[in-house]
Amino acid sequence: LIARMREFGTTVFAEMTALAVRTGAINLGQGFPDTDGPPAMLEAAVRAIHGGLNQYPPGPGVPELRQAVSAHRKEHYGLDYDPDGEILVTVGATEAVAATVLALCEAGDEVVVFEPYYDSYAAAVALSGAVRKPVTLRPVAGRFTFDPDELRAAIGPRTRAILVNSPHNPTGTVFTRDELAAIAEVCLERDLIAITDEVYEHLTFDGVEHVPLATFPGMRERTVMISSAGKTFSATGWKTGWVCAPRPLTTAVQAVKQFLTFTASAPWQVAVAHALRHELGWVAALRDDLQTKRDRLMDGLAAAGFEVLRPAGTYFVQTDIRPLGFTDGLALTRELPGLAGVVAIPTQVFYDRPEYGRHFVRFAFCKRDEVIDEAAARLAALA
Ligand code: PMP
Ligand code: GLN
Repeated sequence: LIARMREFGTTVFAEMTALAVRTGAINLGQGFPDTDGPPAMLEAAVRAIHGGLNQYPPGPGVPELRQAVSAHRKEHYGLDYDPDGEILVTVGATEAVAATVLALCEAGDEVVVFEPYYDSYAAAVALSGAVRKPVTLRPVAGRFTFDPDELRAAIGPRTRAILVNSPHNPTGTVFTRDELAAIAEVCLERDLIAITDEVYEHLTFDGVEHVPLATFPGMRERTVMISSAGKTFSATGWKTGWVCAPRPLTTAVQAVKQFLTFTASAPWQVAVAHALRHELGWVAALRDDLQTKRDRLMDGLAAAGFEVLRPAGTYFVQTDIRPLGFTDGLALTRELPGLAGVVAIPTQVFYDRPEYGRHFVRFAFCKRDEVIDEAAARLAALA
């Protein structure tokens, strides 16, 4: 393995899901729902397969999906993206992030990331030969946020891009307009490209609204906006994502993407196009349902003795393990199947400076109520 990949080992999601399978523990680690997406979307995929959509689609993606993404961006955010040249279908948001970083960052460039960060960001930056510059999100009054002065201080002459994930995995923070404005200001002032990961765009709670960074003045021109169908339509295994960006940036990403995968699988693209046009009511119900599940799991975790931080979005809740007498989340999550028959994710693995996250553990609530209740009952044994 090349030197710059050696620090990464196996992704924590694979490690923890394997631990759940091996021990039979309840898996509140890896974030995937245990129920299916909208039935008509599933039917559309089956129809696509039986209808012969089984050969290579065009490299940038099936036109129907690019058009549906374009219409969705316009309708929800007032953003215009031309389906021909400003939208690219990818193999999930993961490929979108990797292709974007590889296309836009030279070796030695710096990329700002908010830690804790989704693990593929660090690996994508390393593959490109660029260097990540972490800005730490810290809990302030129960919500993870950043200090704009620290953001400014992280930017130097070699900084090329900033990776912004909101709603944010693993903290559940949804950046406010003020936070986004601070990021936009820095991008404009320092001529940075923003790469935004918005895969949880529809999964926000308590009336909190997701605002794309690209909607801020001057930002559309310098933003590569990324999302995917996995979370919105409970189809994480379909690995269907997309990039929306101004033409020169899209062209650059496509130049790399064509040699990573050439194109993404066809049947899912047609089905996701259907879902983007017709299933947003289903998504609204999913969001309400997830909010109830969030509260259900938070109550269970609090009763078990964790300090619980309320997320405004995503599938995840952060807990502070110190009230239970634990100090190291990695050690605890490795023991947790034996202690309580539950698997969770140690937050510290998403930091460059793990000391900031050592006492946090992430639990996923995108599960059936009976699964959440059983996990909570088991975790009560920790107290
Ligand atoms: N970004 C974030 C923040 C995620 O949580 C995930 C996992 N769903 C991804 C990207 C990957 O998305 P996809 O499965 O579409 O590649
Ligand atoms: N995004 C999901 C999570 O954070 C799953 C990621 C993965 O399996 N790579 O749990």
